Amino acid sequence: MNRRKFLLSAAATTVIGPSLLGKEKKEDFLDVWQRETDCVKAPVYCEYMKDGNTRNLASLEKLEQAFEKAVTEARAAKITDTPGVWSIYNMGYIVKTREAFFAIDLIHRRALELADELDFLLVTHDHTDHFNLELYNKLNNTPKTVISNFKDNYRAFYSKGKVVGGFTRAEKVFKIKDCEIHTSLVDHNGYLIDFTTAFEIKVGNWTMYHTGDCGIATKLKTVWGRPDLWTFFPGCGVNVADAVKKIKPKKLVFGHLWELAHSWGRLTTPLIRRAITKARSQGFEPKVALWGERIS
Ligand SMILES: [Zn+2]
Ligand SMILES: [Zn+2]
Repeated sequence: MNRRKFLLSAAATTVIGPSLLGKEKKEDFLDVWQRETDCVKAPVYCEYMKDGNTRNLASLEKLEQAFEKAVTEARAAKITDTPGVWSIYNMGYIVKTREAFFAIDLIHRRALELADELDFLLVTHDHTDHFNLELYNKLNNTPKTVISNFKDNYRAFYSKGKVVGGFTRAEKVFKIKDCEIHTSLVDHNGYLIDFTTAFEIKVGNWTMYHTGDCGIATKLKTVWGRPDLWTFFPGCGVNVADAVKKIKPKKLVFGHLWELAHSWGRLTTPLIRRAITKARSQGFEPKVALWGERIS
């Protein structure tokens, strides 16, 4: 795959052929993503986030396109049943249902542009690769709910003037438009205990589970059965086999891949392959969330 193909590729939630795992000599799309993202060091990404200059780097161009592509598709999508879910970047997704348009962990240079359109925002935890402060501030000045475990949400109203500020560290169910959102806390790693809010979202009979950064599988759980979609970060040292065995997702999508803001500890292609193998060992076929692609 050359640079042009990489930029044009629209391999939504691409399945990784078994023949390409492990001992392969041939380059597959995971290798290409590794090569291209390797060219972007964390300080360069941070500069791009400020000035929007992609510096002719393919993966920054890909990221720049991702927002426009996903948002354009979401705006045009007619949802009659199953919600549409698009990967923006990292663990950031936008979701369109019949009645609502919302985002989870939205992080992109242009995130603020969605402030007026979003009905609500979910933020898993207080790490800068999972939320955009400007977007939070803007929504916090409107009666829209931002559900998080670290920011209050003063002007959020639900119905009949009842204030349901989105700040919570409890297990709770919010109802906004046609969405029910169940919150619970999970461990980011061995010392950030109960640091991440996992969101289970129910729209009709369809459920989605988004677990942000969760490095310990013990507290993972769903209250509405096997999720139709699990957006999962197979990093932070989480035991992928234990996690998938526990949750049994109908569709498993890996995110937080090649996180550019991290100067170390990125979930690189060798680690992604290892996670794929672990999920497969339990009978689950993961897909990967590529920036800008529709995953559901
Ligand atoms: Zn984190
Ligand atoms: Zn993270």
